[in-house]
Amino acid sequence: MDSPAAPRGDYPVLGRDVDGHPLVYLDNAATTQTPAQVREAHDEFYRRYNANVHRGIHTLSHEASMAYERAHDRVAAFVGAAGREEIVFTKNTTEAINIVAHSLGETVLDEDATIVTTEMEHHASLVTWQQIAERTGAGIEFIRVTDNGHLDMDHARAVIDDSTALLSVVHVSNVLGTVNPVAELAALAHDHDASVLVDGAQSVPNRPVDVSALDADFLAFSGHKMAGPTGIGVLYGSAHLLEELPPFLFGGEMIQNVTLSESSWNELPWKFEAGTPPIAEGIALAAAVDYLEEIGMETIQAHENELAQYALERLEARPNVETYGPPPGVDRAGLVSFNVGDVHGHDLSSILNDRGIAVRAGDHCTQPLHDVLDVPGSVRASFYVYNTTAEIDRLLDAIEDAEPKRD
Ligand code: PLP
Repeated sequence: MDSPAAPRGDYPVLGRDVDGHPLVYLDNAATTQTPAQVREAHDEFYRRYNANVHRGIHTLSHEASMAYERAHDRVAAFVGAAGREEIVFTKNTTEAINIVAHSLGETVLDEDATIVTTEMEHHASLVTWQQIAERTGAGIEFIRVTDNGHLDMDHARAVIDDSTALLSVVHVSNVLGTVNPVAELAALAHDHDASVLVDGAQSVPNRPVDVSALDADFLAFSGHKMAGPTGIGVLYGSAHLLEELPPFLFGGEMIQNVTLSESSWNELPWKFEAGTPPIAEGIALAAAVDYLEEIGMETIQAHENELAQYALERLEARPNVETYGPPPGVDRAGLVSFNVGDVHGHDLSSILNDRGIAVRAGDHCTQPLHDVLDVPGSVRASFYVYNTTAEIDRLLDAIEDAEPKRD
């Protein structure tokens, strides 16, 4: 089991030292490393056909436009969307959620409507819905998290009702590793004619995700968590909803016709991509999709689950370590959050960094979830295609050294 799911040679950064120790990169839930194939696609754009899209009729602009549009097709096929019209390129997951929030805020959200979300949301969604609720007067309900790190489905059934206009749910928790039953929740929401937004930031990079199987109306995710570049995210939206919703940003590229008194909107998805879009990043994201599909999303899911189970078992075997989320044996994404005795997370992560091990400490943009867990923060080790059990052993050795010693 100690072999990576992708050649480590694709990632020169993994061969570097940190303070004289070989790097162990376990901060993948924040940002993954970028393989040579993706960097090459990005670089090739600037070497060969860097130009703005859609406007020019010269060769470079034509080539850039074709590659940029094909990138939408590639991403559409990856998540099971009907076509490029359902794929909006954004800056990241956060922007994708904000687009939906602002557009719904102008249409269906008002004093009579309720937004249902969960206690385990990332701030990208939780804070956005809080703000939109405040501005529109809509109510907001949070599905509770149980002691074993799952959503309380009885509570979900109680809070989703005819007033629900939107259910916004994270597919995979970035702290607990829990894989939420999105299709079941979506069915509940759709029974009450509510729309469903899925935060796929931690699922799309790590397991097969299909919008029809999930019955999602919207899906948001980020390129930099799936072997792609920073500066690009995706909003999937079902075409009929994107047609209905007003655009969030205005300007060039998103218009069809403009007079001094009024404007009309471009066709999908360009209606939601105002201004010069992330062209090189979009093309490189498509290369990342190719790269991941060549490994196989099932293979990636199994690899991450194995690493997470191994890390969980080894962590739970230590008397001073408390872990969060589903117990060993339950399918989870490739991450484990924990605390070691009274050692502050930042101190632990700094001790680990002194040994070349990169983890993340803090509230991971989920303060309300940490309130539920009744801890101020946690340390998170998160894995990707290039990680191995030997790296988890190095993490555990370092934790053992950092643990408070008993007399
Ligand atoms: N949602 C979840 C579950 C995440 O883990 C993250 C990032 O960590 C985000 C949303 C926000 O992603 P981004 O910062 O790329 O917008």
